[in-house]
Amino acid sequence: MLLALLNLPALFLIVAALVSGLFVGWYVGWRLAKRGLTRSNEQIGNSRANDASSLSSHLLNATLNEMREGLLVIDRDMRVLTANRAAQQLVFNLGGDGIFSRRLTELTRNPAIYDAFLDGIRGTERSGVKVETYGPERRVFDLRVVPLRSAADGGISGALGIFFDVTRLERLELVRQEFLSNVSHELRTPLTSIIALTETLEDGALADSQNNRRFLSIIKKNSTRMHRLIDDILELSAIEAGNVKVSREWVPLRLLVEDIVGSLSAGTSRNVSLDNQIPSNAKVFADPHRLAQMLTNLIDNAVKFNRDGGKVTIRYETHNSDHILVEDTGEGIPAHHLDRLFERFYRVDRARSRDLGGTGLGLAIVKHLAKAHGGEVSVESRFGEGTVFTIELPRHIEEAHREESPSKLTAAG
Ligand code: ADP
Repeated sequence: MLLALLNLPALFLIVAALVSGLFVGWYVGWRLAKRGLTRSNEQIGNSRANDASSLSSHLLNATLNEMREGLLVIDRDMRVLTANRAAQQLVFNLGGDGIFSRRLTELTRNPAIYDAFLDGIRGTERSGVKVETYGPERRVFDLRVVPLRSAADGGISGALGIFFDVTRLERLELVRQEFLSNVSHELRTPLTSIIALTETLEDGALADSQNNRRFLSIIKKNSTRMHRLIDDILELSAIEAGNVKVSREWVPLRLLVEDIVGSLSAGTSRNVSLDNQIPSNAKVFADPHRLAQMLTNLIDNAVKFNRDGGKVTIRYETHNSDHILVEDTGEGIPAHHLDRLFERFYRVDRARSRDLGGTGLGLAIVKHLAKAHGGEVSVESRFGEGTVFTIELPRHIEEAHREESPSKLTAAG
């Protein structure tokens, strides 16, 4: 947003320079053409001036039409003098030249646009006017209007407005606000519990031998959750900002999964069996630390959201890319949640996730890490039966060539 606003004056200068260029070009051409009528010996100069004028007009048109910002110039009667392509198509959803000489009121009923241009022809500059349009899709513009003064007497001859498309910036701002409100909400819940329990302990429960340890363990659990949440937020921000370096190497997949399965089995009291079905010779080209992070997240979820006596299987398949599958026999995920599952803080059952110590950021981290590898992660699930998460990683380029070469030779031979 700031960047776009900082560019406003520069853009205005360019447009103003171009518009004045057109007028000067036209004026010079007109003067020379007029003189040419009376002074025949200046005919060659006259035709050169016309060429220059038409070139400058052509250049101006091309520049204005390629601008991403919409530009609209109206005269004192609020009729359109000129409008570039972006203004016609994006702001007014019109095609062709039907816009010229039409009144502004015929083009739009949007009071924000009308008022800003009316102020313009009354001599008042307006900036930061928010304009929303609803064509095939909703768009938001930041409109700036300045009065146009005639060079001869300084009187107002019209107004010039530029529409900056800020739809994407607004969407990003919304995402940012939503993220902040989610973070505050996620932190507030454990913090409230910690404060309440600390006060209870202070008010006498410290001496209550039946409850004091229980209260302390709840305080510890909530502090750990806050700690984990902050770690995940920092991690996600670093990955999203591109500050996480992925150093790829050949990783023996079976060994890596064995380590993860070992440490997760040690840390859980759940009756869920883990089956590592990765062939011992399987290797993938990935950052071992980041791959372990992705798989730990997925396998941990597969255990957490499993049923008692359930199973988690980790498999490897190789196609054009390497696939690592984490399958569980858990509760499954209803189909309508699947599209949003990798969004930050999205959870099927919020209370349950919190109870299980979840932050709601694990899958978002997996998604970004898979992308950082040039791959992706996907999910398939049957409600009540189980879920399969698949990490897809591109194969090492040299390896792919090595495998391709013999078949190419055979084909050629
Ligand atoms: P959380 O910290 O809640 O586990 P995640 O981003 O890792 O956050 O997962 C988001 C949500 O996706 C979970 O809260 C859960 O509802 C759902 N989910 C993830 N993995 C599974 C799974 N294997 N089976 C069922 N639901 C799952």
